Amino acid sequence: MDMERIMVESESPVLTCMVLDCSYNTEEICHAGHITVGDDHPRCDTYTTKSVSLDDAMPCVSKCMVTHCYFNREMDCHASGITVGGHVDHADCMTSRQS
Ligand code: SF4
Ligand SMILES: [Zn+2]
Repeated sequence: MDMERIMVESESPVLTCMVLDCSYNTEEICHAGHITVGDDHPRCDTYTTKSVSLDDAMPCVSKCMVTHCYFNREMDCHASGITVGGHVDHADCMTSRQS
């Protein structure tokens, strides 16, 4: 079986993001293509207010460093989908659960 295809299939989609001031956000949809999350705290590290180009593909978690999360297996997210929301002055994965 094709390894690259397996890896893509294991990526968790970013279903919605409520962080409207992120440059990748339009109407609660993330247009980053891929995001990275964590490490100790489930922060969206892809959040930015700089000028970016938008990707129309379904956004996915390419890597998550929150190894204590229930959905994390070897830094891959295995949640069926995640939601991102604001926390203080940054963006967090709201789907993260302590394992
Ligand atoms: S905060 Fe993260 S998930 Fe939300 S739109 Fe920006 S890059 Fe995407
Ligand atoms: Zn936070």
